[in-house]
Amino acid sequence: VSFDDSKLHEQLLYNVARCKYSKPTPVQKYAVPCIMTGKDLMACAQTGSGKTAAFLLPIIHRMMTSSPPNKRNDRPFYHRGKATPRAVILSPTRELAIQIEEQARKFLWKTGMRSVVVYGGADAGSQLKNLSRGCELIVATPGRLLDFMETGKVSVEAVQFCVLDEGDRMLDMGFMPQIQDIIREMPRKGSRQTLMFSATFPREIQELAQEFLEDYLFLAV
Ligand code: AMP
Repeated sequence: VSFDDSKLHEQLLYNVARCKYSKPTPVQKYAVPCIMTGKDLMACAQTGSGKTAAFLLPIIHRMMTSSPPNKRNDRPFYHRGKATPRAVILSPTRELAIQIEEQARKFLWKTGMRSVVVYGGADAGSQLKNLSRGCELIVATPGRLLDFMETGKVSVEAVQFCVLDEGDRMLDMGFMPQIQDIIREMPRKGSRQTLMFSATFPREIQELAQEFLEDYLFLAV
């Protein structure tokens, strides 16, 4: 099996090859086609399994091959002073958020789309400057994203793709109230695609999957 069989957009395959990924990891092999169908997905996968590319590649593919929710903006994905991304990826830590966005940026090369990372514990100024250029994809820690939503810098009203990465860690770190507040502002489940990744699958994660996902596929690798 190679990425070439995956039906990913040609530019994306080129960008994957540039990253020197020759063959998909197990989670990529199974999750990529699931996510390409447009269905919600709950996946149990460990760090190091290649889960980041497993959700980024099909989401970016779907953003490249489907129309955005609105085309009224002159600046892409920036409307009335707010960044209005199509995809939001929530991560428990700043380090993980930075890593995810670095991968996203490599995959977005020459697609004409932009990603921005926002996280707490750092000056908001440069993050806001990045947001003001517009972006299709935001990688965020929950607290800082909610801050930017409350101060009118980001709107999640046009989100088509939402990923909760390391769900069990976000739960342990007490992020669920913020995550609930963020997701409540998105289009309702079923009209966005939601993916949750978690290393473990305890009862609380099962309940969150019920709450945030609709008619979802379950994958354990
Ligand atoms: P992750 O589990 O997403 O944190 O990925 C772990 C590491 O594996 C990252 O450094 C990725 O760049 C790398 N990686 C992901 N997918 C592949 C692949 N198909 N081939 C080689 N390396 C990969």
